[in-house]
Amino acid sequence: MKARYSIIVPMYNEEEVIRHTYAKLKEVMDGYGEPYELVFVNDGSKDQTVDIVEAICQQDSHVRLVNFSRNFGHQIAITAGMDYAQGEAIIIIDADLQDPPEVMLEMIEKWKEGYEVVYGKRLKRKGETPFKKISAMLFYRTMRSLTNFDIPMDTGDFRLIDRKVCDVLRGLKEKNRFVRGLVSWVGFRQTMVEYVREERFAGETKYPLKKMIRFAVDGITSFSYKPLKIATYIGFTLSASSFVYLLVVLCQRLFASGVVPGWTTIVAINLLFNGIILMLLGLIGEYIGRIYDESKNRPLYIVREARGFSEEKEQEEK
Ligand code: UDP
Ligand code: MG
Repeated sequence: MKARYSIIVPMYNEEEVIRHTYAKLKEVMDGYGEPYELVFVNDGSKDQTVDIVEAICQQDSHVRLVNFSRNFGHQIAITAGMDYAQGEAIIIIDADLQDPPEVMLEMIEKWKEGYEVVYGKRLKRKGETPFKKISAMLFYRTMRSLTNFDIPMDTGDFRLIDRKVCDVLRGLKEKNRFVRGLVSWVGFRQTMVEYVREERFAGETKYPLKKMIRFAVDGITSFSYKPLKIATYIGFTLSASSFVYLLVVLCQRLFASGVVPGWTTIVAINLLFNGIILMLLGLIGEYIGRIYDESKNRPLYIVREARGFSEEKEQEEK
């Protein structure tokens, strides 16, 4: 029977939790009693994750596996899940049980009321480091002030989207994907359900600082040109003030006597300005890099194999 709900689970080195996650998702969805599929996307895990899911896949016809050829990142894994999902409503959930599966049912209820996007808003985050909480808070606030449209605060990728929304998102082929921003951007009737984010069931976060920064920079640059404008603004202000200072220096040179050549000042100004110029160049580079990414037109991800899907789907991919 064709699945009505597709649940997408991105996984990167989740061997410690994946069995529990599967059991829990199965319990909740079996209890609900409508046809569903679980689309596990293995994002190049280096541990046993894939073997575990392959075994599950063989036993349970609800389970599908999309296996990447290497680690492409969380946002791309979700995107692949959307490409493969066949349900009428698509739910994205983390593999670590931080997003409580029961909340999916609340999302489904909202969907049945006619909403096309139901996102989960985190009321609380349990068991996360103060650093993670503060950086997340700053990130969502910065994001809000830099972009021109409303990306809901404190929401993750835990959400339900309607088939229509999924199809629209699949048509957006940008490479530096910030899925939750894209979902806000496409519009449709959106609502939220609130939930408490649990602790990770087991294992460690798969988002080290480096990935977090990447994620934040992707989010901001793909939805806002304001950083570029700030760059121009800083550039102008500095040029203007250095011009004033130049006048001061000239006046001193012409009218004051015995001025000691300002070695310190020169060095300081040099350092300062070189720093700022490098910073601005870097910022512009971020955007140019993205233009380059888009122009290469490479596929977003590479699938080594897909299991558990209907014949056509697997054939289509070959
Ligand atoms: N994840 C992924 N690819 C990555 C990093 C993470 O697919 O490169 C998955 C991970 O397995 C989990 C989800 O993305 O299902 C969220 O990651 P995590 O729980 O580590 O992030 P946190 O909750 O700490 O922000
Ligand atoms: Mg997590």
